[in-house]
Amino acid sequence: MAYCADHNRVINFAAGPAKLPEEVLLTAQRDMLNYSGLGVSVMELSHRSAEFGKIMNKVEQDFRDLLDIPDNYKVLFLPGGGTGQFSAVPMNLLNGGTADYVVTGSWSAKALKEGQKYGKVTEVYKKPASYTGIPTHDTWNLNPEAKYLYYCNNETVHGVEFQQTPYTLPNVPLVCDSSSNMLSRPIDVAKHGLIYAGAQKNMGCAGVTAVIVREDLVGTSIPECPIILDYKTQVGMNSLYNTPPVYSIYIMGLVFEWVKKQGGVQVMEERSIKKSGLLYDIIDNSDNFYCCPVDASTRSRMNVTYRIGGPNGNEELEKKFVDEAKKQGMISLKGHRSVGGIRASLYNATTIEETMKLAEFMTEFKEKYFSLM
Ligand code: PMP
Repeated sequence: MAYCADHNRVINFAAGPAKLPEEVLLTAQRDMLNYSGLGVSVMELSHRSAEFGKIMNKVEQDFRDLLDIPDNYKVLFLPGGGTGQFSAVPMNLLNGGTADYVVTGSWSAKALKEGQKYGKVTEVYKKPASYTGIPTHDTWNLNPEAKYLYYCNNETVHGVEFQQTPYTLPNVPLVCDSSSNMLSRPIDVAKHGLIYAGAQKNMGCAGVTAVIVREDLVGTSIPECPIILDYKTQVGMNSLYNTPPVYSIYIMGLVFEWVKKQGGVQVMEERSIKKSGLLYDIIDNSDNFYCCPVDASTRSRMNVTYRIGGPNGNEELEKKFVDEAKKQGMISLKGHRSVGGIRASLYNATTIEETMKLAEFMTEFKEKYFSLM
């Protein structure tokens, strides 16, 4: 069957939906009209068919292999995005109790706000003036009665990332939103009660959210919990209570195969350290032309955020940067509208060579415009 790559693709630094490995897109293109000799696209395949069952089982097994998920954890593939889990987590785990939230940026802040609809949900420290780091855990006010301690592993907007699993009190399970750094570094599943991640950054296309949940936390939802977000129902139905996002699950499976082929999560981590290091080095040696507001110890490997022309940014220079980068085939470098500046997202599909191209551009841009700072 004929299929071809479009060699005019640009370098996409978007925060999500984000770049997918070209190999994945080419396989999807090849399979588009006729998946595995069945004469139909995966989009046209019944979610109850044996063929889709095979896809689903392989996707789960590859995910388990990649993250070394222990047997006492269930894996779900659910609709509703990361935002769906902001509600699903408290509706399934809170049940009239309290929970603690570590708020390190806008996504955990949103999760906290949603959680507050369902019970007494509190921040473990006072909201900082800006999200530029993570206070050390000895300053956290932890409740030993909490049903869970919630954190966002990587804050996509602010570029703040946990470098290790946070501390929690005994018997208080950790709940982790790993939407924007899943599969970019190992994660110790056994230290968590629940981990979830939307697919559209490091795992595929939008539409599906992977949830890893410890068995003993399944089955405690409130009666008002919508049935599609009820972990017990979905565990019982193997994520097939209703029609699942079949195509997004299939794409996620292709991404899992690709990560395995590259050498797994460890290799993804090595590459992520290299890629983010290239940009942070330039930032730190730019005489404040580029300024990253995030504490060096919590800087994200996935979303490198910075201002241009001093710590408060020069919007004119930042606009020039985005425009000139685009002319050189590098897109989606504008920071999130709530924080401004620049954000370069370096998910697994972004290559070292592509990151080097951005690094070279940053060096040239600085030489050209340093005097305008
Ligand atoms: N958590 C994080 C860390 C995110 O980056 C996002 C989306 N960018 C979300 C949650 C929300 O995900 P969704 O848009 O899939 O609801």
